[in-house]
Amino acid sequence: MVQQLSHYLNGARVPGSSGAFSDVYNPSTGEVQAQVPLASVDEVREAIAQAKRAQPAWAATNAQKRARIISRFVDVAYQHEDELAELLSLEHGKILDDAKGDLQRGLDVMEFATAAPHLLKGEYSTGVGTGIDVYSMRQPLGVVAGITPFNFPAMIPLWKAAGAIASGNAFILKPSERDPSVPLRLAELFTEAGLPDGILQVVNGDKTAVDEILDHPDIKAVGFVGSTPIAASIYSHAAAKGKRAQCFGGAKNHMVIMPDADMDQAADALIGAAFGSAGERCMAISVAVPVGVETHQIIRDKVLERAQRLTVGHSLAQDSDFGPVVSPEAKERIEAAIARGVDEGAELILDGRHPEVADYPNGFYIGATIFDHVTPGSSLHADEIFGPVLSIVPAADYDAAVEIIHGHKMGNGVAIFTRDGDAAREFAAGIEVGMIGINVPIPVPIAYYTFGGWKASGFGDLNQHGPDAFRFYTRTKTVTQRWPSGIKDGASFVMPTGN
Ligand code: NAD
Repeated sequence: MVQQLSHYLNGARVPGSSGAFSDVYNPSTGEVQAQVPLASVDEVREAIAQAKRAQPAWAATNAQKRARIISRFVDVAYQHEDELAELLSLEHGKILDDAKGDLQRGLDVMEFATAAPHLLKGEYSTGVGTGIDVYSMRQPLGVVAGITPFNFPAMIPLWKAAGAIASGNAFILKPSERDPSVPLRLAELFTEAGLPDGILQVVNGDKTAVDEILDHPDIKAVGFVGSTPIAASIYSHAAAKGKRAQCFGGAKNHMVIMPDADMDQAADALIGAAFGSAGERCMAISVAVPVGVETHQIIRDKVLERAQRLTVGHSLAQDSDFGPVVSPEAKERIEAAIARGVDEGAELILDGRHPEVADYPNGFYIGATIFDHVTPGSSLHADEIFGPVLSIVPAADYDAAVEIIHGHKMGNGVAIFTRDGDAAREFAAGIEVGMIGINVPIPVPIAYYTFGGWKASGFGDLNQHGPDAFRFYTRTKTVTQRWPSGIKDGASFVMPTGN
């Protein structure tokens, strides 16, 4: 029987009442395994009202007590690691160890958020004028929201929730309708860890729910992660409604391989970064840029030889290197992008369409696919495919490689493989991309740094997680005070200065 999922409101699972549902697949088998309710406008309003009622008491709870609850949540979540990873794998399609990594990178950020008492500290200046001190404080915004994509159903909801909740806000999470079970379970575990009801509200839904979140006057900030067109439209919608917004979009990440790189190390890194999680990572490498004719030949041969040995299969199977893509629509879209690449004249050196996966003929499988001699600016290079498809765009020299990257509309992540410190340093300083890897293929910054792309990969101010999350989900108040109150220097009609 198909399981009916719910929302998570006021500390409990609540069935949907709109009558609208979306199918949740097991991508490995192709079966519909659950249905998720799509919230109506009234359901979203009720979730926000509950959050608004709960938030003042949470804001008044001191930051250390809030941090203790978050710390307990991290412990509880790790106690359920296997269960969460399996749930994640069965709805998303990523292999079990990768699902554990998804969870861990989210919990890392939760652990960082336990430093809330330190991160929320204000500034203090004494004696800025006679008897005058100035101090600042960070205060929560009230009710804030996060809208998250399918590809990291644990990590990104946890990234968003961490800074928001630790700062004393109530948080409305609208997870992806493709894989909502892990966010629902995480909310349940938060309640078990002692989070007051109404502080983490999971509202499942589609555009109707998102539009109400954006329109509702009680939502003060919106953190979005997803594809670029939706990120751009949510950013302008939220801004038009006077909300704080940070909207992270799609990606097309390049790896430059310099002639002096360790070619085996570079090829191994490329394989993992291009095909891990079936390429459904915003930090996946989807474009290899070998520099020089010889590097091109070596990298092409090594990557092809390795990619031919990869196994795509059921996400829970021990021998799968990566699993299926998330949905039948995603499979169709990726296959169409491959067909377009062939039509455009790129050289398809490995075609992963229609792989044989014994026992699971209806799963959404696409094997490792490689195009060589891809032209910069062609659809294969310009568009995010978000599947296991690697394009090789050769460059004559370092400057040409940089030009290829700078000509691209996205700027999320990038990597360079080289033994030359000068080249690496110049690359890191000059390249127009938000996150850089030097001999590191997937440079997702660690929890206490911040994560964010440039150009069409990110709209708005401040990055995700790290100290920026605390800045995004709080506002600063600055107090100028004068003590002792006994000073009497009469009325003044000039602008106050420090003199
Ligand atoms: P998506 O844009 O389809 O959906 C993201 C969220 O927006 C979901 O919650 C979805 O329900 C909602 N949504 C979808 N259409 C909407 C609409 N018309 N109006 C309002 N809300 C809408 O993205 P996805 O397919 O779930 O995720 C994959 C994308 O996310 C890729 O482009 C990937 O690069 C990107 N991504 C970016 C980052 C980053 O940090 N830059 C991280 C992970 C994923």
